[in-house]
Amino acid sequence: MKSELVEVFQSKGSKFIENYVHYYSTKLSMLNELEIFGKRAVSCIIGGITDVLVRTSAKAGQYESPEMLLCYLSSLTETQILNTEFQRKSQETVMCYYCNKPGHKFRYCKMRN
Ligand SMILES: [Zn+2]
Repeated sequence: MKSELVEVFQSKGSKFIENYVHYYSTKLSMLNELEIFGKRAVSCIIGGITDVLVRTSAKAGQYESPEMLLCYLSSLTETQILNTEFQRKSQETVMCYYCNKPGHKFRYCKMRN
């Protein structure tokens, strides 16, 4: 069961990261053509990130080079996916000890009244 979960995390995480890496490399080659490098390139790439949380914390990092930003993006998205997936899974497996059915806790049980 536990190894299954890890596999789900890994496949989802890497797909998510792939999207970011794809976005990053497309944007970076465009910026290189315009001869925009270093910090200016970093802020241009960050400006195009749609996820507000990722964008805000990427800005806060104040990365000097696009490579550093890429490292950050990879690690962050993986962590976020892990957390979201873990929360969803633990909500699914919650058991009511009153009626013994999954999906709700005792305090939300409809069988109580
Ligand atoms: Zn119940």
